[in-house]
Amino acid sequence: MSKPLELSFEFFPPKAPEAEEKMWLAIEQVAAFKPVFVSVTYGAGGTTRNYTHNIARDILKRAPALKVAAHLTCVGATRQEVDQIALTHWQAGIRHIVALRGDPPKGTLKYIPFEGGYAYATDLMRGLRNIGDFEISVAAFPEKHPESLSFEQDIEILKTKAEMGATRGITQYFFDNAFYLRLRDRALKANILMPVVAGIIPISNFASIKRFSAMCGTSIPAWVAEKFEGLDDNPHARDKAAIEFATGQCEKLMAEGVSKFHFYTMNRADLISGIFANLGVGKNPPQNSYTKELT
Ligand code: FAD
Repeated sequence: MSKPLELSFEFFPPKAPEAEEKMWLAIEQVAAFKPVFVSVTYGAGGTTRNYTHNIARDILKRAPALKVAAHLTCVGATRQEVDQIALTHWQAGIRHIVALRGDPPKGTLKYIPFEGGYAYATDLMRGLRNIGDFEISVAAFPEKHPESLSFEQDIEILKTKAEMGATRGITQYFFDNAFYLRLRDRALKANILMPVVAGIIPISNFASIKRFSAMCGTSIPAWVAEKFEGLDDNPHARDKAAIEFATGQCEKLMAEGVSKFHFYTMNRADLISGIFANLGVGKNPPQNSYTKELT
């Protein structure tokens, strides 16, 4: 019998106020899948500081059954400023941080630590320990972090994060399962005892996925590109393909014994519901036109 699934869902603070309602609906919908937690991202360059906090805080108020994690990065702020954000989270009852370094600000290629700021995710983790006894999740990279010298360096850093008390690594999204399985197996061999959760992204917009993948080091196999190239002009066909592809990816991972998944939802609960309906996960998962077509 397969292991029970452990699910988490990531949301981003929308820029337009009208998109916020869509995000709340999405959060409400994924709650039906009884996630271990939902998380709220922190804008690149630290751009959504207060907004991230307000959404995470409001999730606690609006959906007390959900556990919430706030993402936090080292970028663009001093240690005191980051500590203050963490303290505000703690005071609002947010007990879980996804602790990250963050990427170089737009228009710059090389990461340079902010003056007086935390330099790396591990430094941020140390700082968080002084604020409160947070649960801490960290990033992991199936295809190597683009700035790392080697995959082995990534493994060493992941091991350090685990030894510093991280609860889990959450992987960057990937499209070729072989990269994830290599990381999982290598982490086990390195005696990294925390789980390495598979990060799954439904391809909700292929053009932007291509752009982002080039920056974050995720490769797009030719067969994935062939499936999605040109589909952005036909959102119905693209969404159907996105559900189909992510379903297949999860099924293959589950066949390899993977049971912990983190979904980069892009605030699109319809895609998540479609995937889970296909997988037969959850209690009466909501149906939509795409899943009906696929069954
Ligand atoms: P680190 O672990 O600090 O590593 C970054 C690089 O520095 C690596 O190459 C590593 O080898 C190297 N390094 C680490 N420690 C040291 C050291 N002591 N000395 C020298 N080199 C070192 N970004 C956002 O802006 N907002 C988000 O909300 C967000 N959410 C994310 C969620 C997940 C699940 C993932 C996987 C990524 C997310 N990111 C987010 C992106 C993340 O900030 C970037 O991938 C970033 O480039 C790396 O972050 P990290 O925490 O892995 O950094």
